[in-house]
Amino acid sequence: MKSTAQVVVIGGGVIGASVLYHLTRAGWTDVVLLERRELTAGSTWHAAGGMHTINGDPNVAALQRYTVQLYEELEKSSGVSCGVHLTGEVMLADNEDRMDWLRMVHARGRYLGMETELISVAEAAQKVPFLVEEHFVGALWDPVGGHVDPSGVTHAYATAARMSGAEVYRNTWAYDIVANSDDTWDVVTEQGTITCEHFVNCGGLWAREVGRMCGLELPILAMEHQYLVTEQLPEIAPWLEETGGHGVGAIDFGGEIYTRAEAGGLLLGTYEKACVPWSTTETPWDFGSQLLTPDLERIAPSLAAAFEHFPIFADAGIRNVVNGPFTFAPDGNPLIGPIRGQRGHWVACGVMAGLSQGGGVGLAMANWMTTGDPGFDVWGMDVARFGDWTTPSYTKAKVMENYSRRFSISFPNEELPAGRPLHTSAIHDQLDAANAVWGASYGLEYPLWFQRPGAEAVEQVTFHRSNAFDVVAEEVHATRTGVGLLETTGFAKHEFTGPGARAFLERTMANRIPEPGRMALTPMLNHQGMLIGDFTVATISTTTDPTDGSEGPERFLVFGSGAAEGHHERWFRSQLPHTGDRVAYRPLSHEMAGLSISGPAARQVLASLTDMDVSNDSFRFLDVRRMDLGMVPALVARISFTGDLGYEFWVPASLQQRLFQLLTEAGEPHGMRLFGLRALDSMRFDKGFGAWASEYRPVYTPWEARMDRFVKLDKGDFIGREAAAASLAAGPERRLCLLDVDVDGADALGDEPIWHDGEVVGWVTSGGYAHWSEVSCALGYLPVALTGTDSPSTGFEVEVLGVRRAATRLDEPLFDPSGSRMRS
Ligand SMILES: Cc1cc2nc3c(=O)[nH]c(=O)nc-3n(C[C@H](O)[C@H](O)[C@H](O)COP(=O)(O)OP(=O)(O)OC[C@H]3O[C@@H](n4cnc5c(N)ncnc54)[C@H](O)[C@@H]3O)c2cc1C
Repeated sequence: MKSTAQVVVIGGGVIGASVLYHLTRAGWTDVVLLERRELTAGSTWHAAGGMHTINGDPNVAALQRYTVQLYEELEKSSGVSCGVHLTGEVMLADNEDRMDWLRMVHARGRYLGMETELISVAEAAQKVPFLVEEHFVGALWDPVGGHVDPSGVTHAYATAARMSGAEVYRNTWAYDIVANSDDTWDVVTEQGTITCEHFVNCGGLWAREVGRMCGLELPILAMEHQYLVTEQLPEIAPWLEETGGHGVGAIDFGGEIYTRAEAGGLLLGTYEKACVPWSTTETPWDFGSQLLTPDLERIAPSLAAAFEHFPIFADAGIRNVVNGPFTFAPDGNPLIGPIRGQRGHWVACGVMAGLSQGGGVGLAMANWMTTGDPGFDVWGMDVARFGDWTTPSYTKAKVMENYSRRFSISFPNEELPAGRPLHTSAIHDQLDAANAVWGASYGLEYPLWFQRPGAEAVEQVTFHRSNAFDVVAEEVHATRTGVGLLETTGFAKHEFTGPGARAFLERTMANRIPEPGRMALTPMLNHQGMLIGDFTVATISTTTDPTDGSEGPERFLVFGSGAAEGHHERWFRSQLPHTGDRVAYRPLSHEMAGLSISGPAARQVLASLTDMDVSNDSFRFLDVRRMDLGMVPALVARISFTGDLGYEFWVPASLQQRLFQLLTEAGEPHGMRLFGLRALDSMRFDKGFGAWASEYRPVYTPWEARMDRFVKLDKGDFIGREAAAASLAAGPERRLCLLDVDVDGADALGDEPIWHDGEVVGWVTSGGYAHWSEVSCALGYLPVALTGTDSPSTGFEVEVLGVRRAATRLDEPLFDPSGSRMRS
């Protein structure tokens, strides 16, 4: 066995083998894979082998499509059969809500080039003749679904990787991982130790245990999963003949089952509601290629549905039942990427659909490791989306919820209840008493909107406008005409201090870092010049803030997306060692609490709480000051995401209740009203403001995202400058645009295709109703040729729930285009 390697991949399931293969394809050949037993000896060997391209998240769908399309090439390059059966799949809807979901998935697939088709129940019955039509209302046909041989796929990846120089060590258990002082790792195995620059945890059922070798508690848990195969059935042979020998796969969402032809009979699998986690605290190392005891009683409701919806099952004998464990993350998406604060430690685990997703996961990992960029949008799969708040109990609650809802409809306005509330801010009870309807992000509860007094604080889930619509309109109106109060504790706050802090931020941010007392909006770019963050940087002079004991003349607070706190912390920590100067960095997380007021009366509210001059001349837009508001020392920042006159207040969490009381009392004479994130979103559409994770993602350049004025190529060197200059010189291919969409009771939400002249030309990044302007808006990316003010602004269509709605490009914000409300 080698004693050194550039990369050690731990785990020889389908994921480890794919990572190894893709690394060699990217040109890294000093790579080895360690497998404790034989390849596939985790969950891979007993997988049903199903592969689908359909997924509610279009980025995951793209990764699945890549995987399915890779198999042909893989077979050629390895000479190993993957047992591919491209049967096509029928996704059956049992009600109109599910049909809406399928319409949405179908529309979203368009801009990814996916060739799905909405079909009638009668057409579905032609493909799957043993279904009972009356149980369904329609279906989606995906010609690219099917199934593969999991063992063949794993061996094909490993063989192709070996042919390019990789080495695979079977029966080699990695039982310890040690960090060396020179940034390398020792992976300790029964056959000796390998020192490496990078290691990848592809431990599958044991990924949690591998993580623990480095002090990491990964949010994954294995669940038991069952499928059965029937005896041969006389109806199957003629069906196979008609369909080219392989039948057609079917997913019956209402019955919560999937089925396909298998060995002259049928395979039937289910994600049952009464689901059971497996090995909740630790996966035994002596668990081999074993199965668990079948429990047909547990899946009895699914079997009953199968008998009704597909009567062919009722009299079929069962040949075989498989019950095996496989792992899930809390949201059911893979966990991939580098680990925060541990250089060279990578994970690719929690992949619950390895045969659909394994290829894409391997490609993203190889791109990321060899170039620093995953190469496509992996936001929904990045391990950094979970922070330290994901304890094993939280993971268990969420994984069970996710498993049991695998075939349930996910509504766009749905907030799932498991594992909540977890973190709450200091004013949670007051907001609850004010009838807040709650959402959660990065572990923290936040108000979505405030239900009217006496009504139940619940939002109906729907693809159309919900019961929140009219109430959110009132919140927006109260804010735009008077003043509104929003809780902002969920924003991320990254603190930088020390003599080297300014130089560090100048190097990491694309805009100039402001002088003390001022704030600046700034994008953050990676080395490829792509957008990896958008922040407000506030510079606070430590000489004027006596409460601050930090070293150095300035303290910097960098405010950003709360959901991306882990992503950004990982990036900041990875860059810290590169500067010679001393910089202290810490995410302030929930220890710093926030409140914000906005609207034309906001200044009067503030003025009533402080002796300081807060007139427009003395306290300008983007100023930041330490102020005493009554007894509360607060940082007050003149900024608001509503696009109105507004102020943000930042205090230690222990002072938030007092500040809330002060603001509530001071706001009362002005009719101040609480508002939540739904109203904030509505007001950002008035202004056409982009938001992180929607308009701003690492797949866009700052020029595409229209952040031109915040990128200072002439300020000196910063990360991504050269690449950004090159992409500017080349000219952006697409630009972010605001559209006015002529809808009918359902707004665009995000990921809908944008049509022009009968062709899909772009996609929506987020959408919603701008209540103040009374316009249904969509933000999205369009080819540059269709974005100039000299090109016609009409002729666009946005496909909302399967219907193409006329849309007009708006070349200036709907509300206050000159920005005078914010600035005066
Ligand atoms: C009943 C059932 C049906 C399924 N059906 C489907 C399906 O139809 N389609 C689909 O896409 N997916 C299906 N799956 C899920 C699929 O099995 C998983 O997505 C996939 O196997 C995950 O692969 P993996 O490589 O991440 O993990 P694993 O297969 O668990 O592989 C991990 C490997 O790492 C090795 N290992 C762990 N720790 C160490 C260590 N310290 N040192 C050395 N080696 C180590 C293990 O021995 C193991 O071989 C099904 C799963 C089950 C249980």
